[in-house]
Amino acid sequence: MARKIIAGNWKMNLLHHEALELVQKVGNYCQQTELNKVEVIVAPTFLDLAAAAYLTKGANLSIAAQNCSEHKQGAFTGEVSLDMIKSAQVNMVIIGHSERRQFFGDTEEVVHTKLQKALSARMIPILCIGESLEDRKSGNHEKIVKQQLQSALRGRAAENLTELIIAYEPVWAIGTGETASPAQAQEMHHFIRKQLNEMYDEAMAARTSILYGGSVKPSNAAELFSQPDINGGLIGGASLKYEDFVSLIEIGKKELR
Ligand code: PEP
Repeated sequence: MARKIIAGNWKMNLLHHEALELVQKVGNYCQQTELNKVEVIVAPTFLDLAAAAYLTKGANLSIAAQNCSEHKQGAFTGEVSLDMIKSAQVNMVIIGHSERRQFFGDTEEVVHTKLQKALSARMIPILCIGESLEDRKSGNHEKIVKQQLQSALRGRAAENLTELIIAYEPVWAIGTGETASPAQAQEMHHFIRKQLNEMYDEAMAARTSILYGGSVKPSNAAELFSQPDINGGLIGGASLKYEDFVSLIEIGKKELR
């Protein structure tokens, strides 16, 4: 059974005190509410990671980094290593977000390296994949997603991937207000699961959580989360507002299987 997950990607938003205030509120909610096996994750900036992990210890809320360096340590100004993230008591990391791929040179090879290193460091990776509008329009969306998946996971056996989380995020739907229709999202999630089955086996494909990301909000979440191959959401904009994020968790509790 795949884990049910609602994850918030805060991107480069919220000042230090705002991030800590929000993480504490979400943490309190997670501590006081029956989550019906929905796992909740938030990914603040590096600046707030350690404090967020400290403040929410034991709160049924996981903290994830938004990125990591592919290097172990040394002269890499501005970078943050996996060991540093782990030393802040954080064991999850988003890898290959489309904004990293688009603006910060995270090529398929870089994404592959980061994913391999995160797995070797026993971190839980949230691997983001998804096609551009151009790929979608030209009908290449499945080909691109398959390529991203194969390239990132290359060389890893199923037993190393027991905690892998995948986020399907069509680039044209991220932060644009435009969402993939539930049918489009389900079709791609099903395709991704089929690829995992072909690359590994049925058990691996069935237990891997595949989250949908791209302008998910309370008004469209129920239809998306009720699709059979959607195991949760990776949420940007709507995760910054406490009421919206909590309402997405509540929808997840009802709709995710
Ligand atoms: C994201 O950042 O991963 C994302 C899906 O953003 P948004 O929900 O704002 O589209």
